[in-house]
Amino acid sequence: MNFRYKLQQFLYGRYIFYGIDLLTKILAITCITLSVINLFLASFIVYIIETVLFILMFLRLFSKNIPARQQENQKDLNLFNKFKNLFTLSRRRYNDRQTHIYKKCPHCAVMLRLPKRKGEHTVNCPRCKNNFKVKVR
Ligand SMILES: [Zn+2]
Repeated sequence: MNFRYKLQQFLYGRYIFYGIDLLTKILAITCITLSVINLFLASFIVYIIETVLFILMFLRLFSKNIPARQQENQKDLNLFNKFKNLFTLSRRRYNDRQTHIYKKCPHCAVMLRLPKRKGEHTVNCPRCKNNFKVKVR
């Protein structure tokens, strides 16, 4: 048996066979960052944390319970996208602050981008077709 074949047999059916997911990347980046920081700190506690994260990363990568790992990955991706959307919205709000306001529809909670005109206005939500009042100062 050659080494390549043995390695393939070992990896087959393990999570790493499907690629490296978001949580594994975050764990790897955190481990590397902690290692670099610990070069200067030389702290035993940081070393322990780093080692635990490293072991967790490898347990995840070589796990055979693929459905559970994929489920975890989906949760992580949903959370990541939530933060990403929040960040995108914040950036858009900041860029549009002179010309537009952002209001949540009280009926369906969708975020609406409205032109910034002073006074009280009635807004018709394009999603749920309900009306609500908005005051712009
Ligand atoms: Zn609505």
